[in-house]
Amino acid sequence: SDIGSQRERVVTEEEWIQKWEMGNIGFHKEQRHPLLQKYLDVLLNGRTGLRIFFPLCGKAVEMKWLADMGHSVVGVEVSEQAVKDFFSEHSLPYCEEPVSEISGAKVFQSTSGNISLYCCSIYDLSSLIVGKFDGVWDRGALVAVNPCDRQRYASLMINLVEKNSSYLLVTVSYDPNKHKGPPFYVPESEVKSLFG
Ligand code: SAH
Repeated sequence: SDIGSQRERVVTEEEWIQKWEMGNIGFHKEQRHPLLQKYLDVLLNGRTGLRIFFPLCGKAVEMKWLADMGHSVVGVEVSEQAVKDFFSEHSLPYCEEPVSEISGAKVFQSTSGNISLYCCSIYDLSSLIVGKFDGVWDRGALVAVNPCDRQRYASLMINLVEKNSSYLLVTVSYDPNKHKGPPFYVPESEVKSLFG
């Protein structure tokens, strides 16, 4: 499939941090994503008390929703402002600690213990640091990854999930020659070749 000129486009982590500083965060939604509500049963598959991962989490409101259901939520987000806004907007007390394995990284944990947000690049994580997950909510994550990093991202995600996990992925479909992204256009054929 043709993804046009998007193949070469790169948005740096610094640019993402700046988007948060400028309040240029049109991707953030105050309402829970309708597709998560629709496919929640697929994600949970009858199970309770799951470990659910939110790659490139921003301040996604669905993290609070799933934690309130009794699941453990882990997110990763490069913008510290996004992470702090998440806790303050939900009035959740948290503590903040360095991550010994990753220089410069911090983990923010809700005092109640079931939400942990890593503030670092996703490429710094591994299952040795965060463990493995039963479920993934990937909205605004694969489509926000630079096209040149997709293979690396997908390999990492495959490494972070348990055998019997469910992975919900939201992509967007549009003419990639008309918008530069993100969100980038990720055709279904590419999803298949990335994740098998
Ligand atoms: N999934 C969220 C946010 C989507 S926008 C939601 O549904 O609202 C993509 C987010 O990824 C931004 O908040 C950006 O700061 C973050 N991000 C971009 N590159 C990253 C990286 N390499 N590691 C961690 N977070 C990153």
